[in-house]
This record gives sequence, C-alpha cells and structure tokens, in this order.
Amino acid sequence: MFDYAEAAVEAALAAGARYADARVMDRRHESMGARNGEVEELTQEASVGIGVRALIGSGWGFYSTADLTRSAAAQAGAQAAAIARASASVPAFDLELTPVEARQDSWANEVREDPLAVPLAEKGDLLVAATRTMKEHGADVALAAYDVWDTTKWLVSSEGHRIDQHIVECGAQMNATANGESETQRRSYPGIRGQYGTRGWELVRELDLEANAARIAEEARALLTAAACPSHDAIDLIIGSEQMALQIHESVGHAVELDRILGWEAAFAGTSWLDLGQIGRMRFGSELMNVTADATLTGALGSFGYDDEGTPAHPVDIVRDGTWVGVLSGRDSAARAGLPESGGAVRGDGYNRLPMVRMTNVGLLPGTSSLEEMIAATDDGILVDTNRSWSIDDKRLNFQFGCEIGWEIKNGRRGRMVRNPTYTGIGPRFWGSLDMLGNESEWKFWGTPNCGKGQPGQIGHTGHPSVPCRFRGVRVGVTG
Ligand SMILES: [Zn+2]
Repeated sequence: MFDYAEAAVEAALAAGARYADARVMDRRHESMGARNGEVEELTQEASVGIGVRALIGSGWGFYSTADLTRSAAAQAGAQAAAIARASASVPAFDLELTPVEARQDSWANEVREDPLAVPLAEKGDLLVAATRTMKEHGADVALAAYDVWDTTKWLVSSEGHRIDQHIVECGAQMNATANGESETQRRSYPGIRGQYGTRGWELVRELDLEANAARIAEEARALLTAAACPSHDAIDLIIGSEQMALQIHESVGHAVELDRILGWEAAFAGTSWLDLGQIGRMRFGSELMNVTADATLTGALGSFGYDDEGTPAHPVDIVRDGTWVGVLSGRDSAARAGLPESGGAVRGDGYNRLPMVRMTNVGLLPGTSSLEEMIAATDDGILVDTNRSWSIDDKRLNFQFGCEIGWEIKNGRRGRMVRNPTYTGIGPRFWGSLDMLGNESEWKFWGTPNCGKGQPGQIGHTGHPSVPCRFRGVRVGVTG
C-alpha cells in the first residue's frame, strides 16, 4: 500500500507541489441493532482508497480515488496538485507548515479480543438478552446496538513520513423507553451515545449490558411518575461524568478547534467565541479546571499513534489551573497562529475526506473529591446525569442541556428522583463556578463516535476523559 501512496506523492511533486502527502485507508465497519428481544439489523461495510493532499503557494488541493493501482494513485496526485494550483491563484494569506520530524513507524492499539472475530451469533445473543431483560422490567421499547470499526492506514509525505497504523474501535449502547399517558421517558446505558474506545471486544464485555438492563428499564418507568425538576435561579449542581463529557465536548472541545477560531471552519457547528489574542491570559474556569487534549490515553476513543499529517500523538494543555492556554491544531493552522508545533489533531473520516482539525481526547484531569463527598458537602442541590438534549449557540458560549435523570440533594443526602432536569449557563461563568471535581478513581474516558463537522460532512470519533463535578449557583429549570 505504501507504493500507491508514494506514487501519488511523487506525481504531486512532479506537478509542482511544494508539499504533498497521501493516505491509503482501508476501513471496515460492522454494526448490529436489536429491538425488544430480536436482532433487527446488521450492517457490514468496507471502504478502501487513497486520498492525496498537495500544497502549491498557499493553496491546498485534495483528490481521492477508490482505484488502488499505481497509475490511478499517480493521477490522483497530479489532480490534487492541479486543484492546489487553482486555489493558489486566489489571493490569500501565506500558508506555512510547522515542522515535524519525518518518522517511519508502525503503530497499533491494544486489542485483547478482535471484535470482528467474535461470532455474530454471540454478539447478537448479547443484544437480544439485554433488550429482553429491559422489556421484562417495564420498557415499552428496548434498543441495544454495537459498532466496530477496523481501520488500517498508510501515510507517506514528501518530507519522508512513512507510517502505518491499525486502529480497532468498538463499543455499545442501549436504552429503555417507557410511555406514559402524557409523556415518554428514556434511560440510556452507559450514556446517551453509548460507550466506545480504541479497544477490542473486551470493552463491550466489560460494559455488561445485561447486568444494567433491569435497572435502566425500571428507572425509565419510575421517571414517568417522578416530580418535575423544580426551577432554581441559582442552585448547586452536581453533574455526572457522562453529562460532563458532553459539556466538555460542546463548550470546550469545539470552542478550542483552531480552524474555528481562525474562521476557516464555520460549517455545521459554527465558529468560536475565543480570541487568540487572549490565549495564555484569559480565565476559562475556576482554578480546579485543567483540560488536556491527549491522544496518547490508552483505550480512549480519540487515541492514535500519529494524526493524519504524521504528527506523533502527544498531550496538549488546553486549560491549565483555569486559564486558557492551548488549542486543537494541525500543521497549517498552528503555523498561521504562530504556534511552534502542530497539536497533532488532524484526521479525516475515510480516504475520500480532506483531513481537518478534530478533537482527540479532550477532557478534564481529575481532582480530589468523590461523588459521595460532593453529595455530602451539598446542603441544597440537584444531581443530574446522562444527556437527553443539548443546545449551544454557534460561538460555543451560551448553552442549555437536558438530562435523563436527576435527584434532589438535601442536607448532604440524595433525595427524591426528579424528571426532565435542565440547566443553562455561559461558558466561562459556568466553568468559573466549578468547585469540586471527581477523583482519579472516578476518571472515565467517554467516547463519542458521532461528532459532525465540515462540508462535506465528516463524522469524528472523539474521547472525553471526565469526572463528576460540582458547580455553584447554576440556573436549573424545566422543559418538556
Ligand atoms: Zn461535536
């Protein structure tokens, strides 16, 4: 496969490119879904091809083909250069690339049990058993599904990169819906978007869907008659780690994508409220807030050996002691922003998509409190978990989130269950009210396999290390 990538890069250089890289990508995806005790769908798909980027002047060109022959690869390289030449003819700013060592390497994540080698019948039985148990415990609709992605990519650049990677990702999700007379309630496990990682089938086994099926079905039913979450202008709010993962994804992760900050990327989910002139000085949150983007975390969904530009995975500080200090970047955006090196966050969704800045594992570093300590330290508060709905403005500043479930906290104890809890906030004010942070034993790497960005749209796989957190004086209300 390296031969095709080399042919593409050589052809792009011969056509005048000052830089070129090519990725051959072979990706298999398998997913299965069950409903109410029966397997309903099975998808097995494969895509393989080559994508080439060429840089002429300050213009990028990209071209891809599914035809894996040396001549088709060379043609793709020449086409990428032709497109780059056309875009370079439009006046723009100077585009440079930050330096990166040209490595020749091979990388693969740890997989104990190959998910595609587990018999389909066994995987189906697992979903059937979980959905049957949910039905038996009061769910009107019980759904469970898993996904597996098995990706091999070969990268060659005109600077001497020659890197192959084999990345296996999988995960599962399930939910129970209970229908009442006037409303519907749902409980998901382990979260609304399931749980996924760069691991083998052992991840799905550890989730133990079956053991959690009865509980979530009963909670969905109990929510139908639970009291509506009372409204408060300002109350102490404890947020479970799954909802925190989405809070981080939407209000920190997307906001620190350098292509959004530079205004290059506005499609799908908008730009960013952050101003590069403020980096290193601006308060993003309280001193307890430490956020990193770290693609080296074993098993997390945003982990890899190298990004699609050949930058080695490395941790990047995003928020340190509450101050905004870093961004998610690639070689061109980093150079444009005057940063010394790329953050190594550039990835493409398939061989036929131009790699772009994507979240790696953007998450909170743990603190020192346990969830039980947070509850015990709260006189009057609300505990919420599992995302149900989200809304955030296109600068990633004002947000409202709804959760599947909540509990009142009175005098340090968990009280009655409440339904349809929501909370609202403004990024830095909200993060500034963070005053208790879960500890290392509660640190969990949530994986989101469906982050949309770009035009044409690309789906990204992102990871979010997270812990339960307490925020002071948050506005909590009711919807639905
Ligand atoms: Zn997203």
